Amino acid sequence: MRLSEIRQLTRSLSTWRQAVANGRLDVKDFSQSLTDYLAKLQAKTQAYITILPENKIRQQIEAAIKADKPLLGWPVSMKDVFITKEIKTTAGAAVLKDYLPSYSSTVYQRLVSAGGSLVAKTNCDAWGFGGSTENSDFYSSKNPYDLERVPGGSSGGSAVSVASGAVGFDIGEDTGGSIRQPAAFCGVIGFKPTYGSISRYGAIAFSSSLDTIGLFGRQIEDVIEVFNLVKGVDGFDATVYPSQTPTKITSSQQLTKIKIGYLPELFEGVDPQIKDYFDKLKVFYESELKAEFIEIKLPHFSYGLAVYYILAPAEASSNLGRYDGVRFGQGRQFFGDEAIRRVLLGTFALASGYYDAYYLKALKVRRLIYQDFIKAFNQVESILLPVTLGQAFKLGQNTQDPIKMYLEDSFTIPISLAGLPAISFPVGLSDQGLPLGLQFAGRHFNESTLAGLVKVWQSFSKFNQKYPNHVD
Ligand code: GLN
Repeated sequence: MRLSEIRQLTRSLSTWRQAVANGRLDVKDFSQSLTDYLAKLQAKTQAYITILPENKIRQQIEAAIKADKPLLGWPVSMKDVFITKEIKTTAGAAVLKDYLPSYSSTVYQRLVSAGGSLVAKTNCDAWGFGGSTENSDFYSSKNPYDLERVPGGSSGGSAVSVASGAVGFDIGEDTGGSIRQPAAFCGVIGFKPTYGSISRYGAIAFSSSLDTIGLFGRQIEDVIEVFNLVKGVDGFDATVYPSQTPTKITSSQQLTKIKIGYLPELFEGVDPQIKDYFDKLKVFYESELKAEFIEIKLPHFSYGLAVYYILAPAEASSNLGRYDGVRFGQGRQFFGDEAIRRVLLGTFALASGYYDAYYLKALKVRRLIYQDFIKAFNQVESILLPVTLGQAFKLGQNTQDPIKMYLEDSFTIPISLAGLPAISFPVGLSDQGLPLGLQFAGRHFNESTLAGLVKVWQSFSKFNQKYPNHVD
């Protein structure tokens, strides 16, 4: 099977379903060709930590088709932070390099019951600490649009996996931007639902009050369909919101005259090409939906980064306490530099003498950021804002300067602190041929509106049909 045929099948759930329905899907041929492609992709991009053997891939697809499961065996990859029974799970960390779990995360279990076929687990910054995958304890992944650049992070391998067309979708995790930023760098959709939508049970914890499981996908319809299959209460994570209903994509008719907020000052210091795309989208939505763009204020937005880099390391330092070399994996001497940095930052902020000055203060400012958003949503339905400062940066460019790396998350973090849903989506290419993205953020549990807005743009831009040319 040729690569174009693999991509035809991973492009959308409907093409996969059609192929199954017409009996045109030769599962053996597909599994073999996909396995070859995964190996080739790995050689070029190092997107994966584990690739499942061909017979496992085939069995899963056959079983899902036989049982007529909703996803009919559609291939999926997962960030390696999700516990998968008897499949190595590392969180990108040397401490867990040989860890074989004895149970499965809820999200993986739900995928399996829905008939998804796990084909690979993706590389990421160790424990989710980073924005480029360069903090992976194993190797850095590479951007399929330019192999000298990062794919973003921490879920970098996941973005590469979807962008290259090896899988239909991917499950990632976004604590402060880890789905949205790599999605923007690799030209795919990055979906971070409202905090508390999908159970975190069996997801290796980074910062428990921020960790949000979400998806990478090529088209928004499929992302929402899978979201509906995996979200909701499961009894193992008390932070999952109990009364969730299925998300339906809001139609363009219902979006007519929608009020979209924006913050002009956010574009200062951002690559002007991103501002140009913003302007283009503004004109597009104004004509397509008669949308009204309204300038809003989020007075505490700019404190987001400072707040995050107190709260997230504080929670991380507590979460990493369990890796004592006795219960799971190897000892603490295997922690990488960034993990040590975060543990130090976190324990410092939580130390009795500093708790009030740092941790408690940060919690209060977090509340103000949240309240700003709530107020803004009295005025507008959704906010359109940048995801990144620019296109994907070069490997090695920010590794010597952690603060510079942290600054990359200025636009994603405040949304995470407020627990709001946001969708990062490709808007076009830069003059160097690299993808650029923007994101819509919305009210809690209002993924429908955001998905509707993205769908309107997707139908026009057709970016979901685009593939990078370095991984053929
Ligand atoms: N880049 C951010 C960090 O380093 C966010 C990571 C994430 O969302 N997991 O913490």
